[in-house]
Amino acid sequence: MNLASHYVCDDCHARTPLDTPALLCPACGGLLEIEYDLTRASREILTRAAGRRDIGLWRWADLLPVADGTEPLYLGEGDTPLLTTRLLGDRIGIPNLRVKNDTLMPTGSFKDRGFAVAVGFARSLGVEEAFTYSSGNAGASFATYAARAGIDATVLVEDVANPTKVAAISLYGARVLRLRYRSSLEIFAGVSALAEAGFYSFVNFINPVRHEGMKTYAYEICEALGWRAPDVMVHPVGTGGGLWGAWKGFRELRRMGVIDRLPRMIGVQPSASAPIVRAFADGRTTAGAHGDATRTVAQSIAGDAPIQGGVRVLRAIYESGGRAVAVDDGDLFEAMRLLGAEGVTAEPSAAASVAALLRARAQGWVSKDDVVVAVVTGSGQKQPDALERAAPPPAGDVRADPDELLAVFGAPVRSGG
Ligand SMILES: *Cc1c(COP(=O)(O)O)cnc(C)c1O
Ligand SMILES: [Zn+2]
Repeated sequence: MNLASHYVCDDCHARTPLDTPALLCPACGGLLEIEYDLTRASREILTRAAGRRDIGLWRWADLLPVADGTEPLYLGEGDTPLLTTRLLGDRIGIPNLRVKNDTLMPTGSFKDRGFAVAVGFARSLGVEEAFTYSSGNAGASFATYAARAGIDATVLVEDVANPTKVAAISLYGARVLRLRYRSSLEIFAGVSALAEAGFYSFVNFINPVRHEGMKTYAYEICEALGWRAPDVMVHPVGTGGGLWGAWKGFRELRRMGVIDRLPRMIGVQPSASAPIVRAFADGRTTAGAHGDATRTVAQSIAGDAPIQGGVRVLRAIYESGGRAVAVDDGDLFEAMRLLGAEGVTAEPSAAASVAALLRARAQGWVSKDDVVVAVVTGSGQKQPDALERAAPPPAGDVRADPDELLAVFGAPVRSGG
């Protein structure tokens, strides 16, 4: 029983049937959103989903665009843990802090949620070749699911992408083209031209399906909290697909009557390139270009301009009573160490949620009684140079010699007493 019914345009509200690989609205060029017949959705769907623990996010298939009779491209995506923390919550002053650890996804980032769903949907509509642009993680995820689906993938990689991520994209079998550009605005003009010429695009928002995968965050988080929304959800923001997808998921749950209120959405960007934070500070509903993406270690959220002016991210932030917060690289390294001590290996962009909470708490934007979910979006293993910079250096050198080892260790701490 699949409840996906049609695409609807953000601007002119025209409906487009779901049986075409549509990108932007055919009538006016606006962004498309997939709508569901939520009046037919019931707790029964959620109860049934709760019983399936072997298929990750595909247990929500009734509420995703999944064509009848198609096999999911399942690699283990979804159902990542919502961790309580040992020390981190106390350190920040938010005892009810939970960490959604999406570093454990198949390719090491939350991008897998979106690509698993969007690539599967494209395949069911007969798409044979497609492209996206990426600072690394999206490309790796796209390449992986495209390979599983038998779709020819081209990834335009931004020059901030580190060699480990670029290598992963090639390893998974995609054609890699290094992109030369001066501003993200040039990237958007280029990818829009490709989409208009008929090449199927997986660029967030130009592709109306990727954030459908992201909304499974909301389902998993509310389910884990006993079908309640958190008070606050913090998500690093590049294009805003992750934050928007989660926001869509929360709104759907409320329309189904499963939760009774929505969380405040906090978006995080690096201060070196923070177009959304700038627009929010000025009270604007669209963002222009700001900053220099090469001047931060947070590669995955370092665009100097958001696609489509960031309209949807800003809408989610305003409507939810949330905020946009900027963080410095030093805060990101600190947050990586704090997360490391909780057993979570974050890349700098992913540690941004925790870095933002340190600020948000100090400013009083989040209170000590709030239930807060910080999403950790990608693994530090894929950005090894940043991991090495964040980690404390070794305590010293010692020879493998009993006397020397005993001298360095000193007296043992008596345990159990
Ligand atoms: C892509 C990415 C983001 C930003 O996601 P958007 O959907 O583009 O806002 C954040 N963190 C990591 C690790 C990413 O790879
Ligand atoms: Zn339209």
